[in-house]
Amino acid sequence: MKARTEFSINSPEYYGFGIGIMKQIKVCPHCGASEPSERYICGECGARLPAQTLFQQYQRMHRQCPVCDTVLAAGMKFCPHCGIKLKNEESGE
Ligand SMILES: [Zn+2]
Ligand SMILES: [Zn+2]
Repeated sequence: MKARTEFSINSPEYYGFGIGIMKQIKVCPHCGASEPSERYICGECGARLPAQTLFQQYQRMHRQCPVCDTVLAAGMKFCPHCGIKLKNEESGE
């Protein structure tokens, strides 16, 4: 029996690496290749890489716990990692 860890698509582990790695890579919007964050052009297809690292893009797409940086699904009231109560700030950006 395999013990399978279930990761939500909303978790960084979905990408197969942790936050530390996500801060160091960019993902090509054209071909999906991961490139080191200091690159500007995709080594696979020559497309221009986004200015933001994968982590920064990810942060923009998801809320995070202010304490532990765990990525939070929409509507969560408590951080699933550290348990702090989260403010629900739906308004503004
Ligand atoms: Zn590419
Ligand atoms: Zn937390």
